Amino acid sequence: IQHPQSILYLDGVSVSFDGFKAINNLSLILEPGEMRAIIGPNGAGKTTMMDIITGKTRPDTGEVFFDGEHDLTRLDETDIANLGIGRKFQKPTVFETHTVEDNIALSLKGRRGIFAALFDQRSRSETERIEEILATVRLEQRRNDKAAALSHGQKQWLEIGMLLAQNPKLLLIDEPVAGMTDAETAQTGDLLRQIARSHSVVVVEHDMHFVRELGVKVTCLHEGSVLSEGRFDHVSADPRVVEVYLGR
Ligand code: ADP
Repeated sequence: IQHPQSILYLDGVSVSFDGFKAINNLSLILEPGEMRAIIGPNGAGKTTMMDIITGKTRPDTGEVFFDGEHDLTRLDETDIANLGIGRKFQKPTVFETHTVEDNIALSLKGRRGIFAALFDQRSRSETERIEEILATVRLEQRRNDKAAALSHGQKQWLEIGMLLAQNPKLLLIDEPVAGMTDAETAQTGDLLRQIARSHSVVVVEHDMHFVRELGVKVTCLHEGSVLSEGRFDHVSADPRVVEVYLGR
């Protein structure tokens, strides 16, 4: 066991694309149950960092450990997902022609295939889990509606519900509130705070008002490394952060 206290441990991580250092000596530690907001201008390395954690991109150097003991640099994407790291990309990818409830069931029974999810009798524990998730993402009233009928914000919540159905320990969420109304954005903040009571969460977000309202520790990336880290008020007032955002 290398780093028993942390759910996620990155140390000295670097990766280059054609000689360009997209990630440059990046270190980041997430404690179990912590929700962390990642900010930074375009090209800062946020997506590449998520790609490294999920095994999509292999770092050239550095350590990446999950849950104290799993060396993620030695595992492929499927193994990493099976360890309990779930990722949600910015654009919602739900099954539009299926109902909200079936979307959750599909994700819950994912490994047993689409026919099992849609036609097999659900066990009591599966039914209870689906109910719990529908309540968490506040889509109980829409359970029988096709996903295509949902608003953009509701599709994002449904996809977060599908992620929860996979029972991850760590959720990586990319720009959840992009394109949402103010009301949907506020509800998403409540949803993420609720999820963070029982999961570790990394959320990449550009909406600074949303990040402030989340009230969690913030890490600002720039040129592939950590530029500033701490409470939102500290990071947002950091002259180096102000400089990179203003482009001076
Ligand atoms: P962010 O998500 O913060 O906007 P990215 O991680 O997407 O930043 O990109 C970081 C830098 O790495 C950018 O300059 C980007 O052009 C570069 N980059 C990312 N992926 C690749 C790739 N596959 N090939 C070449 N360059 C890449």
